[in-house]
Amino acid sequence: MKINITPLGTVSPYPKGNMNCPGFLAEYNGHKILLDCGNGITSLMKMPDDLQKLHIIVTHYHKDHFGDLGALQYASFAYHNLRLLKEQIKIYLPENDFANNKKSIICNKESFAEYFYVSNNFSFNINDLKISFYDNKSHTIETFMVKLETTDFKIVYTSDLGTTNFEKAVEFCKNSDLIICESSFLKKHNSQSKTHLTAFDAGLLALKSEAKKLVLTHFWPEEDKMLYLEEAKTVFQNCELAEEGKTQEGLPNYHH
Ligand SMILES: [Zn+2]
Ligand SMILES: [Zn+2]
Repeated sequence: MKINITPLGTVSPYPKGNMNCPGFLAEYNGHKILLDCGNGITSLMKMPDDLQKLHIIVTHYHKDHFGDLGALQYASFAYHNLRLLKEQIKIYLPENDFANNKKSIICNKESFAEYFYVSNNFSFNINDLKISFYDNKSHTIETFMVKLETTDFKIVYTSDLGTTNFEKAVEFCKNSDLIICESSFLKKHNSQSKTHLTAFDAGLLALKSEAKKLVLTHFWPEEDKMLYLEEAKTVFQNCELAEEGKTQEGLPNYHH
């Protein structure tokens, strides 16, 4: 069985033009898995269809990764009241709260949702699709990388990732068909931050983990996206830029 993945948001820390904050919608066997729920992504969702069999994963409590969660909660509440949504949406949240974000999300009464809590090495299944989590221990707060795998494919969404625990990240990504990787910076930014990656680092992650394909995301909204692609390609060739609404279809059929 194939999986389709559509980027709904590719920039941070704020949406700009037709670019939204982080979000990727995976569709598998009639189920939808939304990897992060950044500001603006709801504008690209088909309502109420995309609320059916929807599993929302929040990788960490940074607002750029769950800014539209309130909109989806309220949409679920409204469509349920209109009898157009029978099954609760499922929301997966990091178990360890940060700055009362979890509390505020689960206290929202105008919501037709069921909650699940994620801790390190947590996993769940949707039919034969296994979804597993790994605390990357290199971002500013607890942040989970997410792996979607069946016997046919292995796809990793890195979420926000730093450089301090790189070998473990490589291990989690090992032999992936696709890595959707953050690339917040370019080398020219000369950032001292160890809590995000450059496009070069993203390329290195794909190379070291022997991935088949790399898709870059989490760009600076003011930067020319092509520069990220050029930088990553100096280390890893089979690389693309994530673009809002541009579906990667029938994964894992990759060209080399
Ligand atoms: Zn973050
Ligand atoms: Zn972020």
